[in-house]
Amino acid sequence: IGTLYVVATPIGNLDDISQRAIATLSSVDLIAAEDTRHTGKLLSHLSIKAKTFALHDHNEKQKAQQIVNWLNEGLDVALVSDAGTPLISDPGYSVVSLCREQGAKVTPVPGACAAIAAVSCSGLPTDRFQFLGFSPAKSKARQDFFLSAYESGMTSIIYESTHRIMASLDDIEHVLGAQQQVVLAKELTKTFETFFSGTVVELREFLTEDPTRQRGEIVLMLPGKEKQPEEIPADARRMLSLLEAEMP
Ligand code: SAM
Repeated sequence: IGTLYVVATPIGNLDDISQRAIATLSSVDLIAAEDTRHTGKLLSHLSIKAKTFALHDHNEKQKAQQIVNWLNEGLDVALVSDAGTPLISDPGYSVVSLCREQGAKVTPVPGACAAIAAVSCSGLPTDRFQFLGFSPAKSKARQDFFLSAYESGMTSIIYESTHRIMASLDDIEHVLGAQQQVVLAKELTKTFETFFSGTVVELREFLTEDPTRQRGEIVLMLPGKEKQPEEIPADARRMLSLLEAEMP
């Protein structure tokens, strides 16, 4: 029986591909790619002969059974997306879930992921965080989305499209106020990589000053609401006051 390898590819800098990813892409029988032309370029950069077929949101369900059949016939298949880790706001969910359901072997070949790259350098708390994918298209839904992201108390990681970033900042200001802190990570691992931390108003100014700053690939991060003392559970509060009493 074959194996489905879920292979991460670079999100900008082509050197961010692991030795194991190269070995896997070279040795598998077939590569399921989000866009065969895009993946073809990466493969030719790596001097790997292309044996790709397209797997995108529109045909993924039909292709999934085909992939399980190939695995059952003993073929090894790699799953890649255009950039970063497949299934993370990218195709692949139907394939992996069907493989799991039907007992096929699935294994990760980990690597770049914009969400993790962004949060790891954001300066925001990373002990608990949530990845929320892209923000909703409609303003009201976005306002609810940002409010509940904040209320979660965790750092939230959000993928933003260039045409929505300014509207998202307006919505954040609307529900969380002008002083709300945000962090923007742009063009990670690329020439014009940028991090910006500040209030939502400062970020809007930064992006308006030079509109080219609104272009490119963007991750937006929002710190969670800090726990108020009364929200700390009663037993934890008792423990804290006992500890305080013991402190010199
Ligand atoms: N699967 C990918 C991953 O692992 O990060 C994400 C794919 S999703 C379709 C594309 C979005 O990811 C972009 O709109 C942007 O929000 C984010 N992204 C991808 N590459 C990025 C980069 N180099 N810098 C900043 N954000 C990036």
